[in-house]
Amino acid sequence: MSQVNNWQIGRKMEYRYDEARPKRQFAAVFNPNRCIACQTCTMACKSTWTFSKGQEYMWWNNVETKPFGGYPHSWDSKLLSYMGEQEWDAGAASADKPYGEFKGKTIFEAAKSKETAAGYIPSDDQWNAPNIGEDTANKAIHLEDGVAQDWAELPQHKIWFFYLARICNHCTYPACLSACPRAAIYKRPQDGIVVQDQTRCRGYRYCVRECPYKKPMYNGNTRVTEKCIGCYPRVEDDWVTRCISACVGKIRLQGWIDNEKSPIYFLVKKEQVALPLYPQWGTEPNVYYIPPRWVPFSYLNQMFGPGVEKAVEKITKPSHELLGLLQLFGVTQKIIHSYEVDEKNAVAFDENGKEIIRVENNPELVGRDEAACKNVT
Ligand code: SF4
Ligand code: SF4
Repeated sequence: MSQVNNWQIGRKMEYRYDEARPKRQFAAVFNPNRCIACQTCTMACKSTWTFSKGQEYMWWNNVETKPFGGYPHSWDSKLLSYMGEQEWDAGAASADKPYGEFKGKTIFEAAKSKETAAGYIPSDDQWNAPNIGEDTANKAIHLEDGVAQDWAELPQHKIWFFYLARICNHCTYPACLSACPRAAIYKRPQDGIVVQDQTRCRGYRYCVRECPYKKPMYNGNTRVTEKCIGCYPRVEDDWVTRCISACVGKIRLQGWIDNEKSPIYFLVKKEQVALPLYPQWGTEPNVYYIPPRWVPFSYLNQMFGPGVEKAVEKITKPSHELLGLLQLFGVTQKIIHSYEVDEKNAVAFDENGKEIIRVENNPELVGRDEAACKNVT
């Protein structure tokens, strides 16, 4: 085991291999505040990559309704129940550890003998119903004398649900990769996308067991495992992935997390409005989420770490720059490498600094009209 630096948990941790960051890292920000669970992303992925025999149950992109939905069912609550105390020292936050320091064990540190990470293989029935629990809230409306109690009131609703869109996180420390005894899974040095060599895979399913997000899926027809490939043929030509390009709700933005000019860098590292999914598990996932504004913080803290309150505050009253970037979600199929937000516009540029698209960023909405701002975030 090596000691590697994980900025999301604010400390070093154990990992099977040495730290080896790619030249640049594929990343995306998803904004569940906008998701309508239309599943267009899900079908865009399915019709591109998983339409063959043996792939029927594979949904590399899925959209589940929290708190009860999940694909496979209970993927996160089951792992959480193995993991013990999930304590953070948020007071230790600094520029290079924005969420403070995680005091519990990562999945790598909680591994039992013969594992590289704590995990489990889902049962067949947990893979059977990809969208179970859709639109089901945390509890039913309670009536007293025919009058509904616990009605919705911002900032945190008592009765709530939200849509969580998920793909492979193309983690910096992939548990699927560390689990594989055949070295069949590798992280591409040019873009950080995690792919699998199917000629090396023997279908042992160690990756299925140890990926905490349950994104590798076993093909009973070919008897090897498959996973999301980050649409790398599109990314090589500077196009965003199929799920991101198809998104009807404009909830998704793709880019590079380590490029200071990138909108992703601004949203994650500078503004800290987009947070990693279960950062405490230690894989350093590279899909980030703007937390849904109406959900109790106790639930969101467990899912996105201690940065939730600050992120919700920022998205509720967005700065001019943040509001501008929110207009750039879903407006181009090209990967945005850099941007500018001026008085009236948000402008996106490609890798060569050429303008891709320009959208209006109406100053009338910026911090002056809260009601209007609520409608655009
Ligand atoms: S989400 Fe799972 S499958 Fe994807 S890179 Fe991370 S550990 Fe591997
Ligand atoms: S296409 Fe976009 S809005 Fe529709 S379910 Fe997928 S992420 Fe949500």
